[in-house]
Amino acid sequence: MSDTMPTIFFGHGSPMNALGGTGYSDRWREIGAGLPRPDAVLCVSAHWYVRGTHVTAMAAPRTIHDFGGFPPELSAIRYPAPGDPALARRVSELLAPVPVGLDEGEWGLDHGTWSVLVHVFPDADIPVIQLSIDRTLSGAAHHALARGLAPLRDEGVLVVGSGNIVHNLRRMNWDLGDGDGFDWARRFDARVRELIAAGDGEALANLERLGADAGLSIPTPEHYLPLLYVLALRRPGEDPAYPVEGYTGGSISMTSLRFG
Ligand code: ZN
Repeated sequence: MSDTMPTIFFGHGSPMNALGGTGYSDRWREIGAGLPRPDAVLCVSAHWYVRGTHVTAMAAPRTIHDFGGFPPELSAIRYPAPGDPALARRVSELLAPVPVGLDEGEWGLDHGTWSVLVHVFPDADIPVIQLSIDRTLSGAAHHALARGLAPLRDEGVLVVGSGNIVHNLRRMNWDLGDGDGFDWARRFDARVRELIAAGDGEALANLERLGADAGLSIPTPEHYLPLLYVLALRRPGEDPAYPVEGYTGGSISMTSLRFG
């Protein structure tokens, strides 16, 4: 039996971070180097936002290049981590009675997962599975569902959420690059941290009640929802750590959150 694994939310931002040489990718490498080695990784990525709850259950998940308009070297990246069919079945058991589809070939590892893990675990030798985000569920329902995954932290599994606390592509100004956020983005990121400090998971899971800045910060919920999976696995007495901070294009918060 392993010690309790941490759980981490990564703000993934642009897929270009996968190519490395950004401050964010450097920080992800440092985080990985300092982690206890997990037996497996379960990632909840913003980019598998579909109807129903599914988990990848194939032995060798493919690398999915789910983006367009980026240079060919990004599409050439492969992240050949093995899958973990037994862990997929374990996840299905833990989330019962919610039906969990065992995905044998539809999905794989999307860029929400591999653009980060290519730095955190660059050897790609730790098994990785993905859990989908059911687009029909409310934030509160996701938060409740995620609690079912709690035993995994004691079973050697690193549960990762990959999204962005603030994610508004329409407001993005690429010229700003990696730097400061717009006022509303910084206010919202700070508001979320206040609620995390207060341990108010219920408020964080009710997206409609997160205040005026939430409209611009979460125009669609898929990048925010992976945060709720990490929050749901917080243990009593665990303080939040924010090992990565910053913005991309003013409207994407790169905040990462870690417990344990
Ligand atoms: Zn994304």
